[in-house]
Amino acid sequence: MKENTFHLVSLGCAKNTVDSDSMAQLLLRDGYNASEDPALADVLIVNTCGFIGPSRDESIGVLRELAEEKEEGQLLIAAGCLTQRFSELVAQEVPGVDGMLGTRRWMDIVQVVKKLRNMRNNYRPEVLYHLPENAKTVGTDESDILRANVFGASAYLKIADGCRRPCAFCSIPLIKGTAVSRPLEAILEEAQILSDNGVRELILIAQDTTDYGHDLGMKDGLAILLEELTDSVAEMEWIRIMYAYPGYVTDRMIDVMASRPQILPYLDIPLQHAAPMALRRMKRPANMDWVHKTLAKMRERIENLAIRTTFIVGYPGETEEEFQALLDFIEETRFDRVGAFQFSFEPGTTSEPLGDPVPAEVKEERWERLMEIQQKISLQINQSFVGKTLDVLIEGFDDGIAIGRSYRDAPEIDGLVLIEGEAEIGAMVPVRITGAMAYDLTGVLAETN
Ligand code: SF4
Repeated sequence: MKENTFHLVSLGCAKNTVDSDSMAQLLLRDGYNASEDPALADVLIVNTCGFIGPSRDESIGVLRELAEEKEEGQLLIAAGCLTQRFSELVAQEVPGVDGMLGTRRWMDIVQVVKKLRNMRNNYRPEVLYHLPENAKTVGTDESDILRANVFGASAYLKIADGCRRPCAFCSIPLIKGTAVSRPLEAILEEAQILSDNGVRELILIAQDTTDYGHDLGMKDGLAILLEELTDSVAEMEWIRIMYAYPGYVTDRMIDVMASRPQILPYLDIPLQHAAPMALRRMKRPANMDWVHKTLAKMRERIENLAIRTTFIVGYPGETEEEFQALLDFIEETRFDRVGAFQFSFEPGTTSEPLGDPVPAEVKEERWERLMEIQQKISLQINQSFVGKTLDVLIEGFDDGIAIGRSYRDAPEIDGLVLIEGEAEIGAMVPVRITGAMAYDLTGVLAETN
């Protein structure tokens, strides 16, 4: 074990990864070194996920593993969503945890480590340190910390945190609190730094990107942000928008997407269901007329638009008719990408009184039907790209095959383009598509043919 060395495990979504990277930046700035090996670190940190049951189990499992191997003098800190919402559970399930840090308190990591060390020197090792979500930042200026996670030539950039929507199934507002947008200037400055350091794809994330700026008094905040970004960081090649909320995709936003080539013709708009009654029970926008019209308008205005969405299957009270309406909608709309999740009950959410009445086998059967339909659609859409040339951002190289993503593929959740031949990681190369599968495409470098 080395002194002043940390080992950090980041679990959950890209938004959590950004917080983990911000904690790492603060520790490095304070003179710590990072280690991939927990045995070599004197500070062990797990940035947990507590979104749904399986992610909670995974977080507890990782903490337990580290706690079991922990040596004298090592500190184990649990940070993030699980500790924010279920600190007692963490304390009970993982007795080896020395300290806890809630969400939005990542900027206090250095103080927490110091405080826990002092407690240890005072022979009080069992005290837990849990900062409430709304506590004021303790002496750390976050303004010079990049709120981004860089991987290869891409970076997730967080533009806001928290959510003010009322979705009945979702625990995010309970974990993160209401939406708080980051100042526009800070985002522009960070985008410039990322660009200067070789980032070519900027992926804007928040729980709901279309709500950007509302708390700052902005109207059409996301469109304004996109305008400013494309003007001031003109050399950023790809800007990708994730997590748009239905009902808040405005004409100005569509205009910006249609007129600025840096903004990828890709939109992730989680719709969750298509039957108005199911959407009402979810406390989600239920105006399917708006959905139909807006998707049609976007497709008409934004050339080659790829649309990704997600649906929940087996929400409490979902009838066979409602589920059929969802399948019909999917067949009719023909999304490029669909993610589907079986409903999992979250205590404390406003759907709690509804319970979890759809039997597990019905959820499974519906999920399979939905995926089967979507896989056919995805394959057909993918096949329509055979013979075309797409720009691909290279992310890896394995066994004579270069692996990358086109504008149609967000990292981790969408497909890949598998290319015969060599290409440098981080390069943007034109690829002629030669084959299609349900999720991925295959191709060859366009210059060599
Ligand atoms: S918009 Fe997304 S994060 Fe916000 S409450 Fe709804 S599902 Fe949760």
